[in-house]
Amino acid sequence: MDDINFECTACGKCCHDLRLPLTLAEATAWLARGGQMELLCEAIPWPVEPEADNEQAAYKKARSAATMSGSLPVRVSVLLVAAFAGACPNLGSDMRCRIYEERPLVCRIYPAEINPFVALAPESKACPPDAWQHTPLQRHGVLVDETTRELIGESRRTSELEAALRVQLCLALGLNEAALANEGFVIYAPDSDALRAALQQVRATPANETLAAATPWTFVSNRAVTVETLLSVGAAGRLNEPTADAHFRYHGYFPAEPA
Ligand code: SF4
Ligand code: SF4
Repeated sequence: MDDINFECTACGKCCHDLRLPLTLAEATAWLARGGQMELLCEAIPWPVEPEADNEQAAYKKARSAATMSGSLPVRVSVLLVAAFAGACPNLGSDMRCRIYEERPLVCRIYPAEINPFVALAPESKACPPDAWQHTPLQRHGVLVDETTRELIGESRRTSELEAALRVQLCLALGLNEAALANEGFVIYAPDSDALRAALQQVRATPANETLAAATPWTFVSNRAVTVETLLSVGAAGRLNEPTADAHFRYHGYFPAEPA
């Protein structure tokens, strides 16, 4: 659909049960307000550079950092997310955002899409049907509002600039395990004080791709066939196992073994 109308009804549905990707500065502010953060880690085998005209690969590359898993070159991609079940801790009982002026970029952009390869689809959004009736949001596939377009540009630029820093943040916390991209995520829920200290450390230095590449990563999967395949091409990998570590979870998109 190229032409889409939209007007927020202030129903508050989009402010529940979320993992909100944040910038490093936003994450620092989120923690300062007492919010919880998680790190979602995935790694993409990257044995050869894709063709220069492969725009999707270029997009992934810009949001990840090069490193190794065993003898296999990989790119690690980390999302730093504010995580909450139920209502956002900043949502008032009147369904208004209590930090509206300081709300994260991703909240300012919603319901538009940040990823240029994802088309805006009302049916995939939390907004009720009556939100999609009147004010022009998109015409001929282009967002009408210049401010939203600028915010999307800012979000994409920051995501690129901080890609290596997000990996450095993991390493500062002693984290170097990731799921295979498109198969799931390794989810770390670090202690807030430890994350605050690591954020402070990482934000005090420029992004350093050499530092981000210095520590090898290990793949984690819930599927033995994936682990075997990764090991066969030289990667380091292990099967996910039940753990008493409350800070570590594996979230797979697929059953533990193919049906
Ligand atoms: S920060 Fe504000 S806009 Fe963003 S999810 Fe929370 S309540 Fe909603
Ligand atoms: S779900 Fe949509 S309509 Fe409801 S508050 Fe969020 S943006 Fe507005």
